[in-house]
Amino acid sequence: MIYIGNHLSASKGYLAMGKHEVKLGGNTFAFFTRNPRGGKAKDIDEDDAKALMTFLEENNFGKLVAHAPYTMNLCSDKENIRKFALDMFIDDMKRMEYTPNQYYNFHPGSHVGQGFEKGCEYIINALNVALPEAKTTTVLLETMAGKGSEIGRTFEELQYIIDRVELSDKLGVCFDTCHTWDSGYDIVGDFDNVLKEFDSIIGLERLKAVHLNDSMNEREAHKDRHEKLGEGYLGKEALSYVINHPLLQGKPFILETPNEDDGYAEEIKWVRSINN
Ligand code: FE
Ligand code: FE
Ligand code: ZN
Repeated sequence: MIYIGNHLSASKGYLAMGKHEVKLGGNTFAFFTRNPRGGKAKDIDEDDAKALMTFLEENNFGKLVAHAPYTMNLCSDKENIRKFALDMFIDDMKRMEYTPNQYYNFHPGSHVGQGFEKGCEYIINALNVALPEAKTTTVLLETMAGKGSEIGRTFEELQYIIDRVELSDKLGVCFDTCHTWDSGYDIVGDFDNVLKEFDSIIGLERLKAVHLNDSMNEREAHKDRHEKLGEGYLGKEALSYVINHPLLQGKPFILETPNEDDGYAEEIKWVRSINN
């Protein structure tokens, strides 16, 4: 049994997302906790959140993987942007408790020229302030493509942060197949070894979710342009290998491919058809 789903719009509320995902054939999904461009979030309708939780249970869903806004940069060089990001993070931790025991995924941040260590200092401080608000949520750092000054382009960079966060038992990692490929990991040629490396540096017990994407670019391009499954440089063979890897079974697989509903439904169908 595989948990597969895609990124959904939250504009019609929580229960609507669950129902929509079932229509697409999925049994997990991702959503933005607020406008992806950041800013003030809609108030949470508690009854709607509860209705979703019941719906997920009835339909045997895997864990959801909520996504922080793309614009949230915890390690900006501007104090007001850092504060804005941290306020959003703390607020999101509180919001996530309306849908308890799920995952919350975020991009570590871009240090914008301040250097890796300075950037990490800000990220670590922010996590130390925000994580006490995560009562039941596991917060996932995403593996990044290494575009610009993005932090999290290697497993070592993610572990550098995890090592220094006080409540690190609340942290996990979301493995993005497009990003890791773009950052240089050989997903196509030697995925076993990529996971071995992940295990030796971070530990596979931290790998909680997978973003299942093909890539528009060659390995190590550091571009971060997602492609539909099988239409990019990863290809269906490598993606099948990832989907069926024994060490990844039971984890939620989230599609962030450039698709509308029909395309997602087709990809979900394909993933199920090759999953053994
Ligand atoms: Fe992401
Ligand atoms: Fe991703
Ligand atoms: Zn991406």
